[in-house]
Amino acid sequence: MTTIERETLVPLCPRHHDEMKSSEVLRLDPASNEPKMTPSYRCAEVSCHWTYSLSGGYYVYREGEPREGKESIYDLCPTHHQPFYISKYDSQGKIETWRCPEAGCESVKKSPMQR
Ligand SMILES: [Zn+2]
Ligand SMILES: [Zn+2]
Repeated sequence: MTTIERETLVPLCPRHHDEMKSSEVLRLDPASNEPKMTPSYRCAEVSCHWTYSLSGGYYVYREGEPREGKESIYDLCPTHHQPFYISKYDSQGKIETWRCPEAGCESVKKSPMQR
């Protein structure tokens, strides 16, 4: 899968609903089974480990542990096979808006916050 940088992609943390910061994390590459640096987004909260990457969706990442924990959200767009991310959060109605990272994709899901 090719990873194209998209300026508009700003995923929100599934726990805090804050904008995540672009970063790189050491992640186990499913193809080679070797840890490698993966472009990702991380929550800005120091104590929060939620991470989002185009190859793995949302998962909890802890420094020094390339393997992901059990917590992960991996919900693929049926058209582009890219993991949905939270683009908007309505704090009054507690509704998350999930989008496909593909530019111009019409797949949008709204779901009540479950965590
Ligand atoms: Zn967070
Ligand atoms: Zn899509």
